[in-house]
Order: sequence, then structure tokens, then C-alpha cells
Amino acid sequence: MNQPVAAFAGRSLLSRYTACTVLAIGAHPDDLELGVGGTLARLARAGAHVVMAVVSVPGDRERRTAEARAAAAILGCELRFLIEGARRIDDFKPYQLVGMLDELVADLSPAAVFTHSASEFHRDHASVYEATVSAQRLRFFDFFSYHPTMCRPVPVPFNPRAYVDISETVDAKLEAINAHASQFSCRGIDTEVYRDFARLHGRMIGAKYAEGLDVGRMLLA
Ligand SMILES: [Zn+2]
Repeated sequence: MNQPVAAFAGRSLLSRYTACTVLAIGAHPDDLELGVGGTLARLARAGAHVVMAVVSVPGDRERRTAEARAAAAILGCELRFLIEGARRIDDFKPYQLVGMLDELVADLSPAAVFTHSASEFHRDHASVYEATVSAQRLRFFDFFSYHPTMCRPVPVPFNPRAYVDISETVDAKLEAINAHASQFSCRGIDTEVYRDFARLHGRMIGAKYAEGLDVGRMLLA
């Protein structure tokens, strides 16, 4: 196998965000771990301040927030919940959701934002993606979308334009996913499929494991 990753190892893209704030936005607890957990762990280990923002918490709030806290600790990230109580994303109008993300972006001034993608089929995920696109008007930040997220695999079109080698953090990613026991082990759902996805993406770049990202906007300076 070719080793293009090794050839570029001294020029890691992740070093771009060292000492910067990176914002990752997910509609629900577990979305960020599934979509971009390995990348977030790598960024945190590279010295970035990584904030995981969870927009809403459906179901048993106490249990799901505890699971999300455990997962964020595994990945080395700060965790924030945007919507208090049991209200769902659908309870808010699009401009209110945009306002929520505007506030977050103004507060954190992130160098990069990771969010859901235009390929999403879950309505909440699509709403969060659209609101994040709007938040770009406030200030410049690199804009990335992660693979559509789901508890059970569904075939959806997603064409990554960038890849992050997560060979060093794939175990942390799986551990963080498994922290959401209410969504996986308690429902008899095997999470190893997410390692398989990472292996498949890794094949694209000659790495053992990778996460694929779509690139919405990025400054190559
Ligand atoms: Zn979700």
C-alpha cells in the first residue's frame, strides 16, 4: 500500500488548529462521536481547545447527558448543551436555531467548525447543518461536514473531500461511542461497524483508519 500519510506526516493539518478553538456541532448526544470523534480526539491531543456542542437531548435527559459527558471526557473535549430541558429542535423556528449558533460562534470565535452535512436524511441533522451554514456569515472559520450519522447503517450518498488519519484515536472514538450505552449496547446494536467505516475511509489515504470530511470553506494561506 502507498504511504502518502507518512510522506506528509511533518505537515499535519491538525497543527493548523493548535492553541485554537475548534467547534463541533451535533444535533444530539452521540452524533459527534459517530461522525468525527477520532478527529476531535486528535485535535484535542494536538493542543486545540475542542468544544462539542450538542443542540438537543431527546429521551432520558439525565442519562443521555451523563453519557455525553463521559464520551467528551474520553475524547478530551469540552461539552456544551444548547437547548435546555426536553424541547426538541423542531420546537424552534430556523431563525431561532441560527440565533443559537450565532451566539456560540460569537462566544468561541472558532478557527474551524465541524457539523452535519448536506447529505443528512435526519431532519434534525439537516436543520443543524443549514443553521451552521448561516453562521458562516458572522466571521471566517474553516467549515467541515462529517459523514451522516445513524445508530444503524443506512446507505446514503456522502463524498468526502478531505480525510483525517485517526489510526491513533480510533479506539478512543469507539470507547466514546460505547459510552452512549442507551443508544447501542442497551438496544443490542454492535458498534464495530464504525471501526469498519473508519477502515474503509483509511483505505482511501493509505492509513489504517480515517474519517472522511466534506469541505464547505477553507483558507489555504
Ligand atoms: Zn442525531
